Amino acid sequence: MVDSINKKDKKQAKPDISREKSAELYAKAKTYFPGGVNSPVRAFKSVYGTPLFIAKGDGSHIWDADGNEFIDFCCSWGPLILGHNNVKVREKVIEVMQHGMSFGAPTALENELAELILNNNQFIEKLRFVSSGTEAVMSAIRLARGYTKRDKILKFEGCYHGHSDSLLVKAGSGLVTFGETSSAGVPKSFADETIVVALNDVEALKEAFNEFKDQIAAVIIEPVPANNGLLLQTRDFLQALRDICTENGTLLIFDEVISGFRIGFEGAAGYYKIKPDILTYGKIIGGGLPVGCYGASAEIMDHISPVGSIYQAGTLSGNPVAMAAGIAQLSELLTKGFYDELHSKTEEFVATIQNYATKRNYKLKVFTIGSIFWFAFTDQEHITKADDIDPASMDKFKKMHRELINRGIYLGPSGYEVGFISSAHTKTDLETAKRAIFESLDLVFNEK
Ligand code: PLP
Repeated sequence: MVDSINKKDKKQAKPDISREKSAELYAKAKTYFPGGVNSPVRAFKSVYGTPLFIAKGDGSHIWDADGNEFIDFCCSWGPLILGHNNVKVREKVIEVMQHGMSFGAPTALENELAELILNNNQFIEKLRFVSSGTEAVMSAIRLARGYTKRDKILKFEGCYHGHSDSLLVKAGSGLVTFGETSSAGVPKSFADETIVVALNDVEALKEAFNEFKDQIAAVIIEPVPANNGLLLQTRDFLQALRDICTENGTLLIFDEVISGFRIGFEGAAGYYKIKPDILTYGKIIGGGLPVGCYGASAEIMDHISPVGSIYQAGTLSGNPVAMAAGIAQLSELLTKGFYDELHSKTEEFVATIQNYATKRNYKLKVFTIGSIFWFAFTDQEHITKADDIDPASMDKFKKMHRELINRGIYLGPSGYEVGFISSAHTKTDLETAKRAIFESLDLVFNEK
């Protein structure tokens, strides 16, 4: 049993893996890209060492440029629910690519992927494909504004919805606040249209609706907030949100870029059995390729051009390569028992780690839902708000991340990021990962 590690091995930090080639690539990359990366979190700012440049992925494993092998729990930030380089996804993409890669004209593949989604989702009747999660959310917000003829939106502190201007907004001080821009370059006038409140706080929500009566076009939430830790909400809170939106003629947007097709085929809406007005999905519907979509009732969606007056477009929207990958991936997700198996594997993994930590009085809580997990260095039973996370606890994650990397386990490079398990993770992978996690926790918590 993994629980019984040789006592002598437990307290030994492993030597750092070689990152020579990654360091060389990073030095070059810094001359090409700001900070050497094309998306900030990849720069390893919150964890130890030079960013690892990935050379290959297969199943649950990835290899970096130096040839180091890792069991991957980042899964390209979630969408690789079948693991890397899945044979069915790859073959479908290759088959489609034999016939050309982009037309900027409709293809049958778009219908095929739309059917897979719509025929198995009770919450939306029509959708529009776009090329990223950011684009999906940005378009959903425009749809809500155009549909309700109102300007303000309400978001929650601790939810991430991509990098469009209206959403790069954080809470100011006070219960209900106009947002403050969280990035230079976002005009204050944009932030003034975004109201930010804390998660899991019905009073703040009510106050916002009192203060901005008949002005709020949409409330947007990650129903499973998974970008700032895993801030699991109660069904009651989500239901209160649903009710308050209905009472006020405000559209409820569930941003399911992470939870969609991950915690079940119908995502969080299906899990909590709550119907939002608009849903957004991301790269998981394209097998990890650049895709997203937003969907709603036919009545709402028909406000989008060319039928309606709300403009939204994209040269690469519905491109055949991404559609092919999506068709192959979603078909797999629909096979009987897919989610049950994935979830029970995750439950067992998390429970064993939690048990190990609890027995040793380690201040660790592993939060989980579906096949998502998050290591929180806390003794709080629940963490439902961004403010509940102690920033100082991130030092422990940093240490753990280094130890895990040195033991061949790859987690996203920030303690605020969640981990993902794919159907490609084998029992052996998970046992190996548990052992590495136990050893790393022993080091983190027994530090002098
Ligand atoms: N919404 C949520 C909930 C996300 O997690 C993300 C990114 O991870 C986005 C939107 C933006 O997606 P993308 O990075 O594909 O633009």
